[in-house]
Amino acid sequence: MRKKAVETTMPMLAVRGLVVFPKTVVHFDVSREKSEIALKAALSDDKRIFLTAQKDNSVEEPDMKDLYQVGVVAEIHQILKTPDNITRVLVEGIYRAKLIDIQQKEPYLIANVKQMVNYIHTKTDDVEYDAVIRALKDAFRQYCRFMPRMPKELVSSVLNEDDPAKLFEAIASNIALSVFDKQQLLEESHILSRLGMLLAMLSRETEVLDIERHIHSQVQEQLENGQREYYLREQMKAISSMLGEGEEEVDDYSDRILELKLSPEIENKLMREVDRLTKMSSSSQEAFVIRNYLDTVLELPWNKSTKDKTNVEKARKLLDKEHYGLEKVKDRIIENIAVRALQPELKGQIICLVGPPGIGKTSIGKSIAKALGRNYARVSLGGIRDESDIRGHRKTYVGAMPGRIINAVKAAGSKNPLILLDEIDKMSNDMRGDPSSAMLEVLDSEQNNAFRDHYIEVPFDLSNVLFVTTANTTQTIDAPLLDRMDVIELTSYTREEKYHIAKEHLVPKQLKANGLKASMLKIADSALYSMIDSYTREAGVRTLERKIASICRKAAKEIVSGEAEKVSVTSKNIEKYLGAKKYLDDDLAKKDEIGVVNGLAWTSVGGVIMPLEVSVFEGKGTVETTGSLGDVMKESAKIAISYVRSIADKYDIDKDFYKNMDIHIHAPEGATPKDGPSAGVTMTTALVSALSGMPVRHDIAMTGEITLHGKVLAIGGLREKTMAAYKAGIKTVIIPKANKSDLDEVDSVVKENINFIYAENLSDVLEAALVNQQKSKIKENLIPINNESASKEISLRS
Ligand code: ADP
Repeated sequence: MRKKAVETTMPMLAVRGLVVFPKTVVHFDVSREKSEIALKAALSDDKRIFLTAQKDNSVEEPDMKDLYQVGVVAEIHQILKTPDNITRVLVEGIYRAKLIDIQQKEPYLIANVKQMVNYIHTKTDDVEYDAVIRALKDAFRQYCRFMPRMPKELVSSVLNEDDPAKLFEAIASNIALSVFDKQQLLEESHILSRLGMLLAMLSRETEVLDIERHIHSQVQEQLENGQREYYLREQMKAISSMLGEGEEEVDDYSDRILELKLSPEIENKLMREVDRLTKMSSSSQEAFVIRNYLDTVLELPWNKSTKDKTNVEKARKLLDKEHYGLEKVKDRIIENIAVRALQPELKGQIICLVGPPGIGKTSIGKSIAKALGRNYARVSLGGIRDESDIRGHRKTYVGAMPGRIINAVKAAGSKNPLILLDEIDKMSNDMRGDPSSAMLEVLDSEQNNAFRDHYIEVPFDLSNVLFVTTANTTQTIDAPLLDRMDVIELTSYTREEKYHIAKEHLVPKQLKANGLKASMLKIADSALYSMIDSYTREAGVRTLERKIASICRKAAKEIVSGEAEKVSVTSKNIEKYLGAKKYLDDDLAKKDEIGVVNGLAWTSVGGVIMPLEVSVFEGKGTVETTGSLGDVMKESAKIAISYVRSIADKYDIDKDFYKNMDIHIHAPEGATPKDGPSAGVTMTTALVSALSGMPVRHDIAMTGEITLHGKVLAIGGLREKTMAAYKAGIKTVIIPKANKSDLDEVDSVVKENINFIYAENLSDVLEAALVNQQKSKIKENLIPINNESASKEISLRS
């Protein structure tokens, strides 16, 4: 029979947030005064006090209903005051007790309690105990994994505990359970059930901790990822802003591409490049290449064009204002403007300006652009050997660039500029591709609306570009290219033309360029002529312009240094500014000589006097030619010799001269290659002079091709050749009769100062050129070449 439970009264504490188990030692702080008094009362008695948990922590004056009924009777081990005046108690639970009622509330609580057994242990269910103990230890081990601060000794003592009651106490008092849970455990009397409950609570707690940790680590990870990304993005932004690039840059490119409203093919291609750019590090070499590419392509004038001017009169005025003469070019441009006014869609033909250097081909190109109201760009083709110069290099090459055509369009800034292709005759081919065929594509109106530059990759429309080309000669221009061009031949300037160009254009231009006012420097006409005659020898006016510039610089120096207020240059003081005269008339032989004849030649720099010398020696009939004579000239020499054999008698020449004389033909300035048939008359005259001993008039010059029978045939470049003769002070010029009709071309100054002899046959030439002819003898030995020659028509102009 069970002993009847004893009821006792004792001081009581209503504790908050705490459940004390029997056989466990805990300490807690006491704040209520009532509690302190109760403690003191207990201490002064048997040190025992009833502890029960408050259901609601916020209640200050708890009543029966506010308290759990099952509590514990504990023994006070110690009471102490902390430095901050808090009362701390150390107690040990002794037995469970049930609150029957509260006997006294003031000054402290006194409870009437009934003792309960601490736990009920049924011996029969050992296996169940073992199982639950094992499970509980396991659960505790798991739980401790989440509690890194759990003392190791505690953990190991728990795990070694096999007594169910002790195990319960050890675990229950060391884990964090809610007051409610702990109260449940306290109220359960059966130890097995209590262990079961504890196991369930521990497992649930472990699970909660696990989930908690999982959530925590997830949160942490998210936080870290977020922070990492944020950090990287911030860094990227910082770097990009330092480099001035980034996403904005990509957006900027896309905007610019869309703005241009290109064809879908081109737009897609460019967008793909922008896309590639987004995928690479902005500082990589590749990104650099793409950025360069996009910048170049986007700078091209895809949709920009200028409006053509159509006023013919204004255009003419402008052309006249900027250039003297050059009538053929000006007329052609005016026609072009007129046609365009009627038919704006017409694709103009390509004009090719051909002529010697310095005659204004390049500079009139620029004026044409102005007259048409077009932007202007110049491409120098001289010395280009490589196709890529025209078409560019693929952008994958290091330092790749577009070709010169696309560069020129870019520089011009509109899609319908005038592009001057300078020196198209100086392009040459080699194994790196054929620039001429690339050029053909540029100039061909059938193909050039989709010109492909290797660098740009997408087609560009060149069909609105007006191309003007220049060349010194058409001979070295590829036939298919030449075929597409409208050639305008420009000739060298005469002395008078040069004078006008200098006076009206070059002097004002150079004064301005050197910051001089017209009142500061006067260049007299005599000085200009002096420059034309004695300081320059050229077809154009380039050197003349340089000389004028040189005078301007020296004058500016004199004025600035205070040496003079204004400068006046005349033929008298010109040497002070330009040094000693370079070309003197005494270039020419002053007296008549044997075997020396003034020939006239036409070169790329205009006409020149080309003296020819022949010497004969006793020998074996060899013929030697020196002075870089070309094949055609050598053939002329052979024709001359054969012809002289036929007239040997007439000039008292040894009939067998070709067998027993050695003949040496030489053209001075040996380094300059010379060729062409027009030296035939010169060669024959020199030969006859050398063989006959008759001198040749030094003041006569000649040009003309010959036949074996002594006929004189027409030649080219009459204007230039006669100009050269005039400049050299020659008084008489022998030209082929067949060229008489070309005299219109010859400058009027030249015509006024030179006597022309129109030769039909070589005898006409010899008669005019040789001095001291023994007329009687010639008459006697006259061998008629043909009927006409008998009537020797020698026209002399006055
Ligand atoms: P090219 O291209 O034929 O070699 P440039 O155009 O370079 O010759 O001409 C050389 C210089 O002579 C330029 O300064 C040019 O303005 C000037 N010039 C040439 N011809 C004339 C002209 N007819 N009127 C005015 N200036 C001229």
